[in-house]
Amino acid sequence: MDRPSVIHKTSSDLCVLPNWTDYDQECSHFSWDVARQALQGLPGGGLNMGFEAVDRHADGALRDHIALRFVARGMPAQEMSFVQLQRETNRFANVLQNLGVVKGDHLFVLAGRIPELYISVLGALKNGTVVTPMFSAFGPEPIATRINLGAGQVLVTTDLLYKRKVKQIREQMPSLRYVLLVAEGGGSTSEPVTLDWRQLMDSASETFCTVSTLPEDPALLHFTSGTTGAPKAAIHVHGAVVAHYATGRYAIDLHPQDRYWCTADPGWVTGTSYGIIAPLLHGVTSLIDREEFDAERWYSLLEEERISVWYTAPTAIRMLMKYGASLAQQHSRPALRFIASVGEPLNPEAVWWGKEVLGLPIHDNWWQTETGGIMIANTPAFDIKPGSMGRPVPGIEAMIVERLESEGEPPRVRIVDRPNVDGELALKAGWPSMFRGYLNNEARYQKCFADGLYLTGDLARRDADGYYWFVGRADDVIKSAGHLIGPFEVENVLMEHPAVAEAGVIGKPDAVVGEVVKAFISLKHGYVGDEALRLDILAHARKRLGAVVAPKEMTFIVTMPRTRSGKIMRRLLKARELGLPEGDTSTLETSA
Ligand code: ATP
Ligand code: MG
Repeated sequence: MDRPSVIHKTSSDLCVLPNWTDYDQECSHFSWDVARQALQGLPGGGLNMGFEAVDRHADGALRDHIALRFVARGMPAQEMSFVQLQRETNRFANVLQNLGVVKGDHLFVLAGRIPELYISVLGALKNGTVVTPMFSAFGPEPIATRINLGAGQVLVTTDLLYKRKVKQIREQMPSLRYVLLVAEGGGSTSEPVTLDWRQLMDSASETFCTVSTLPEDPALLHFTSGTTGAPKAAIHVHGAVVAHYATGRYAIDLHPQDRYWCTADPGWVTGTSYGIIAPLLHGVTSLIDREEFDAERWYSLLEEERISVWYTAPTAIRMLMKYGASLAQQHSRPALRFIASVGEPLNPEAVWWGKEVLGLPIHDNWWQTETGGIMIANTPAFDIKPGSMGRPVPGIEAMIVERLESEGEPPRVRIVDRPNVDGELALKAGWPSMFRGYLNNEARYQKCFADGLYLTGDLARRDADGYYWFVGRADDVIKSAGHLIGPFEVENVLMEHPAVAEAGVIGKPDAVVGEVVKAFISLKHGYVGDEALRLDILAHARKRLGAVVAPKEMTFIVTMPRTRSGKIMRRLLKARELGLPEGDTSTLETSA
């Protein structure tokens, strides 16, 4: 279906006055120093992420406002106000102090989205202890690899996860001094060489003076999604909190009266930066659902929990689309006013589906584990061009560059001034949430920078209006008969076909043209992947893309291989197609 190239904001899209409306003016006035003034800071120039997220409100007007609301199937909802969260995080910080765990030590959390995870992360931050939340679905191997890389001293997990995954590898993690167990069924735990989380909490004081951390002190260690290879460990500092605050305001338009739901797990950077820190900074009530994706449940939550701002991922939106409009129409969304998404390119089809079926366009935004926060976004301040990831948020200078051939290190680049030219997306280095290193891999870190720019490894183009368009990851771009083909462009067109639920496109080596475009397709409910449908989809792609860019080959698959953060693993599609080793699959969704 031909649709307009711009979604103009209407009054129903903006039923609450947004935090900002004038992009150019806000960008020209913005400075990170001024942005920091919205936060309180610690005496003597200190800054602490946990303090800003919790104590600033607990000691102020939002003291009794609900900060976190936990829901799980078959259980009553559990709520925590800012002051309750302050007491609990203080207790946990004291637990760490009592154990002799100090500033700069490293704590890992392996748990589902239970209150204890959130308390442990925030309490550790207040103690200056560096934190890594891990996906609870990880198997023993990825757990040990991560704890060993980060030389973790403390692990917080549950008794059940410990018995299933950690006990047998405990000896392989020599740095681990303490394992704190949360009893999943309540009561207490009695596993040898572990401590009981609840018992320690019960005997700890609920007052605590936040450890003095400086903006450059490490706060979080996040592992990348592992989409293109083995996950890398990105170091983030307490000063990142300024970017979490600013982007919570600009890119997801948080207002204190919001009921906000970020569907990401804290094992992925999104679930920490925007599932824990940013909403608390803005004093909003955050919904935390313990369960995994379930279309019916998600629609019920949007309705019954009266969610007003919803931050989710393209995979989830595509899955909802797979269930069709009728399920969406069986539910109302009485408070929903703003939807945003991150993690993968958001196909124009999905943006329009939001507008037509949910009644609101979806605001795609772009960032990475390394950037720590949202960098480029569709925001309430300007119209959406479906398929574009939007414009740089205030304080972020983005550009398209071309890498120059350079012998050895460091890399060199040339800035591409003209619009609509494909090149590597680069950001002017120095925003507060920029990673400060890849742990134990300084050489790789250095390779990400050239001439004061951070090189993202993603290819994009900027149009004449300053909107950025994702082309593909540098590793995924297909070279066919002298053309560079971005898989996203091909996937978008495949997604337009009414039968297609998801598309993953790779380049398959070919002796004549270098690479041929091959598509993997999963179908919507009710469609059968027979030869007639295959030819029909290929014909649709050829008509829309031309013979050079359209896929030459296509295979139907039932499930797309994807990371736990919901990204299509094209490298796995390729390895499987070519019969090559699969490489690091620690973050593969079905691997646990
Ligand atoms: P790894 O670096 O281990 O291969 P990863 O890059 O997938 O994994 P993340 O940091 O979670 O790990 O993801 C960042 C990447 O996700 C970006 O570099 C980009 O390729 C992709 N991405 C995120 N948001 C968007 C978006 N809105 N549009 C297009 N791509 C996006
Ligand atoms: Mg990456």
